[in-house]
Amino acid sequence: VKGFSGQKVAVLGLGRSGLATAAALKAGGAEPLLWDDSPEARAKAEAEGFACVDLTRNGVLDEAVCLVTSPGIPHLYPSPNKVIARALELGIPVDNDIGLFFRSFGSAAWDDFETPPKVVCITGSNGKSTTTALIHHILQVAGRPTQMAGNIGKGVLSIDPPQDGEVVVLELSSYQTDLARALTPDVAVFTNLSPDHLDRHNGIGGYFAAKRRLFAEGGPDRAVVGVDEVEGRFLANQLAMGPGDDRVIRVSSGQKLEGFGWSVFARKGFLAEWRRGKQVASIDLREVAGLPGAHNHQNACAAYAACRSLGLAPKLIEGALQSFAGLPHRSQLVAERAGVRFINDSKATNVDSAAKALQAFQKIRWIAGGMGKDGGLSGIEPFLGSVVKAYLIGHSARDFALQIGETPHEICETMERAVARAAAEAGPGEVVLLAPAAASFDQYPNFEKRGEDFTARVKALIG
Ligand code: ADP
Repeated sequence: VKGFSGQKVAVLGLGRSGLATAAALKAGGAEPLLWDDSPEARAKAEAEGFACVDLTRNGVLDEAVCLVTSPGIPHLYPSPNKVIARALELGIPVDNDIGLFFRSFGSAAWDDFETPPKVVCITGSNGKSTTTALIHHILQVAGRPTQMAGNIGKGVLSIDPPQDGEVVVLELSSYQTDLARALTPDVAVFTNLSPDHLDRHNGIGGYFAAKRRLFAEGGPDRAVVGVDEVEGRFLANQLAMGPGDDRVIRVSSGQKLEGFGWSVFARKGFLAEWRRGKQVASIDLREVAGLPGAHNHQNACAAYAACRSLGLAPKLIEGALQSFAGLPHRSQLVAERAGVRFINDSKATNVDSAAKALQAFQKIRWIAGGMGKDGGLSGIEPFLGSVVKAYLIGHSARDFALQIGETPHEICETMERAVARAAAEAGPGEVVLLAPAAASFDQYPNFEKRGEDFTARVKALIG
């Protein structure tokens, strides 16, 4: 990290990104002052050779020129965290690793390159990881040097020094965009907005404002904006100098967007690119195995648009889409036997994402349940038409059974039993889908372990 040589920078929160921040500050000649409220986190940092200083002690923080915090710590004023509250009182700027990344690696500092590296940032409520991984995959297939970081994979300050012509692809959550004091991507992507994670941001206004910061004045050269919700339409209209402005690429799954400067949309399984009133390209997405369902077609359109704005040709992107394997635990095909496909969408932890998965397939044997969210399955009714039968597991099994009423179902309790029962009953052309619409904590440490369990049981069963 450049710009802090010889200065003290406080780092609060010593998880992966906090330690990477500390190392990057040291490498840039700064003196990091490290602290975490948890003694375990401090012990771990010390075991890795970092010294800690108690930032809650009087006067310690006062010497710092900046406070860098982790995404998990609430910072809005008045912050419940003593160190952040004190920094705000003292007027010490509060930043995060993303802000430091842009301050020191941002395009302006990359004059020495023949082809300066570019940064693509992806934010939104759903589809961030898929879109990020897809852009990274397409760039790899195209032979462009590229690294992926942020919310997905490694912390931004742990990436290798970018090479000539490299594209750094960053997934950013609202917890990261709301705080970063510098955010200057070359291409910014906004996937969509759904009312998740609202508490921390003071409601939907604050949540949208956090995401919107990526598109501030002097921001990206190009914005790729999903316009399927009112917030996205507002953002696109506000960024564009009229509908013909091709600095904004509008993206949709379902709407025909022909009258704009630049747009990419998916309808009836086909992706279409339009520029200044003419269709430029069309891609059949129906057989793209790694991206099933209308929600993934939205992700494909966003990734396509981002790659087009980096100068890649439609044919090349089309080829790369075919070889995208999908991300683990997101509509992931894990096995196929006798015409039955087994799909792991363990990441579908709420009704919204489970509904997307139910829409992506037909004739579904649906494995659902776990630690249900408030409201349980409410809102799922319109999507039950494709469910042949539900196999309910976990804490919420009985509650879910009541809520889906008429739809055939069976209480299975465990993943083992659910997989065995669904596999035994499934016929050719059917899909056994894990899309729990619930958190995993009643039976698993996280959604990844749940998805791995599903996959292992499927594989054990069908050999
Ligand atoms: P994120 O990184 O934003 O959480 P992921 O790509 O990991 O997004 O997908 C998370 C969940 O949301 C998955 O269960 C997936 O089925 C669903 N999903 C993926 N893309 C979209 C989308 N564009 N719109 C709505 N839901 C989506």
